[in-house]
This record gives sequence, structure tokens and C-alpha cells, in this order.
Amino acid sequence: MSTPPTRRDQIAAGLDDVRHRIAEAASTSGRTADDVTLVVVTKFFPASDVRLLAGLGITDVGENRHPEAGDKLAESGDLGLRWHFIGGLQSNKAAVVGSYADVVESVDRIKLVNALNRGAHERAHPVDVLLQVSLDPAGTEGRAGADPQDLSALADAVDGSGMLTLRGLMAVAPLDEEPRAAFDRLAAVHASFVAERPEATWLSAGMSNDFEEAIGAGATHVRVGSAILGARPSIK
Ligand SMILES: *Cc1c(COP(=O)(O)O)cnc(C)c1O
Repeated sequence: MSTPPTRRDQIAAGLDDVRHRIAEAASTSGRTADDVTLVVVTKFFPASDVRLLAGLGITDVGENRHPEAGDKLAESGDLGLRWHFIGGLQSNKAAVVGSYADVVESVDRIKLVNALNRGAHERAHPVDVLLQVSLDPAGTEGRAGADPQDLSALADAVDGSGMLTLRGLMAVAPLDEEPRAAFDRLAAVHASFVAERPEATWLSAGMSNDFEEAIGAGATHVRVGSAILGARPSIK
């Protein structure tokens, strides 16, 4: 009689598959897997999964909600992981997120810069920042991310903040568009941004359904959840 797979076996299998697909996509576009950081998105999954991921060599995890992110980190502080906050952020929660996150990928307005900086200052720990760019047409409902034309002013605010370090850009592909076309537009926005800010080399793009297209367009960070951890419980 065979024993059922453990949760560790399940995660290891998902991870193996995604790592192979990352390497394949990277080599197709003349890059290597080392050029791409895998951020495993653990939202809705328990801290025990975070621990298993760390044991399987994962260094970066992503969470999109406060306080879930902070609670999970509190149970996982001994693992030495880099915690990415990737979700929409209310200004009144930004200071506390800035006090525990290592990377905040969803910075899309100046108000957040000031609040995150206060939190980072409190903890006396610098926070890496990505500016989230909207790839939706202006006026789209529920649009998250800054207009490409507003990035320069946002970057200035980050530079002037003291405790925040500008690393690059992040985006989510629109649902109703071919992801590769959206990521190519993002790559163009990133290229002109990097021309002004040579230090802003990170490009976070791609999720379970489109990370290969994102790598083809130059993503340095992919944010993958369900392809590794399975389907999330439905939104509460
Ligand atoms: C949930 C989430 C992801 C991961 O989504 P999957 O489809 O599960 O890979 C990536 N990025 C952001 C911003 C998310 O909120």
C-alpha cells in the first residue's frame, strides 16, 4: 500500500515544476534561471507552508494583506526569509507594513511613501521598494498602480524618504489582454525608467498563469502562488 503524499511532497512537486519552467523560459530568451528570483505567494496558506518552503530552498515569500502578512511573519521570523508585500495598501496600514516588510512592491502613490518610511524608521530597518505601474488604460475600474508618467515623481519621493530604497517596478497583467503584449509595454516603461534610475533594475511581473511570458519580457522577479501551493481557499 502506498502512503499518501505529505504536504511537503506536494509543495516540492509544485516547486520542481515551476523551477523547471522558469529555467526553460529563461533559456528561451537567452537568460538563465539565476536571473529570475522566485517569490512564492503564500497568502491564504498557513505559516507551516512557509516553513516547508524555506526547507525547500525558497528565500522570498509574498503576502498581499495586512494583518495576515505580519501574523505569518511573526510565526516565521527564525527562517531568515525576505518578505515581499505585494498587495493593495491603505495609507493607514502602510506604516505598520513598513515596520515588518523587507520589500514593498505595491507603492503607487506618495502618501504610501511617507507612511512606509515612518514604519521603516520605527524598526530602524531599510525597506526595498518597487513602484507598481498600471498596465490598464486610464479610467479602468479598480485600477491598481501608478500611471507611467507619475513614476518619476514617486521615485523622487522614495529617494528623499531616508529609509526606503528604490529597486524597480512591479505590474500585474490586465485580465483582458494577451499577457506578453502587456509585459512588452511594461518592459518599455522599465527601460526608460532605468535610463533615469540605473539602480532600479528589478522588474516584478508574472504570476502562475503568465510567468513564462513575463520572463520572456525581462522579469527579474516572478510572484507565483497557486502553481506551487495549489488552489487557494476562496476569498473570505
Ligand atoms: C495572489 C497574487 C499573486 C500570485 O497569484 P497566483 O495566480 O496564485 O500565482 C501574484 N501577484 C499578486 C499581486 C497577487 O496578489
